[in-house]
Amino acid sequence: MTRIADLLAQGPTLSVEFFPPKTDDGAAQLARTVDELEPLDLSFVSVTYGAGGSTRDRTRDLVVQLNAERGYPAMAHLTCVGSTRAELAELLEDYDRSGVHNVLALAGDPPADGSPAGGDFTYALELVELVRARGDHFSVAVAAHPELHPRSPDLASDRDHLAEKLAAADFGVTQFFFDADVYFRMLDDLGERGCTTPVLPGLMPLSNPTGIARMAEMSGASFPTELAARIEAADEGDRERIVVEAAATLGQTLLDGGAPGLHLYCLNRSPVALAVSDALGLRS
Ligand code: FAD
Repeated sequence: MTRIADLLAQGPTLSVEFFPPKTDDGAAQLARTVDELEPLDLSFVSVTYGAGGSTRDRTRDLVVQLNAERGYPAMAHLTCVGSTRAELAELLEDYDRSGVHNVLALAGDPPADGSPAGGDFTYALELVELVRARGDHFSVAVAAHPELHPRSPDLASDRDHLAEKLAAADFGVTQFFFDADVYFRMLDDLGERGCTTPVLPGLMPLSNPTGIARMAEMSGASFPTELAARIEAADEGDRERIVVEAAATLGQTLLDGGAPGLHLYCLNRSPVALAVSDALGLRS
């Protein structure tokens, strides 16, 4: 199976993130989306993993299915906080046997009620090391937060930990952001720490202003007030056009500045991902 790290070296790549659906309707919607995205000739897709392993089997089944049936690799998100070493080793063994060799190694979030997470892990770097121990046929990605991880006390220490984690991984994927400068500033900060591991920017072309504001707050991303105001003032039909234009402009600036590809948070829907790709001339 193709290692995504090798695809990035030939980039630029185009990829999307899916989440494992909970219902039959959601599964049907995702199956349609996967078909509708075929014309994009995607480099790879990634599949999220519910907090504390809550979607463990659904994530696993979707990743294995996409990886086997589609012409691109599927990358399994995997979180470690709250899990034991034996549990994660068993899941990695299953992925290895099933031909899935691309993993996004994440810490995940501790329980929201403040109760102890339990398990054997605290930081994503420990999971990177667990995946690495399986051998070089695995490609390991990690998360990057250009605007500071929400739990970090300060930017400098966050960048230090990010540089250390990226040095152990093959590439990074960012949390979504709306201003290209925050991405390039992060790369500069990493460069100053001797880290040149490629980092894929993540784009969130979402046209529901309440949804974006909520997700931005949760993930520590700032949502530009000017863009928010334009989306808010527009009617339903115009909102999508504004969001697509903004995402395409951001995507072009990132690619022009040397980003190794674009990762789209498509929320299991195709229209906006297709429109952004068209605006960027990326449909093959
Ligand atoms: P880490 O890299 O471990 O960092 C977490 C915090 O700890 C940071 O503040 C960091 O600065 C700090 N830190 C790191 N190392 C040290 C150290 N040695 N000492 C002190 N502090 C340290 N969550 C899910 O549950 N499922 C998903 O599928 C999922 N997918 C994601 C995909 C992407 C692209 C991104 C950006 C995030 C995703 N998340 C997902 C969210 C992620 O799990 C949370 O942001 C989580 O809080 C941190 O994960 P991390 O891997 O960045 O953690």
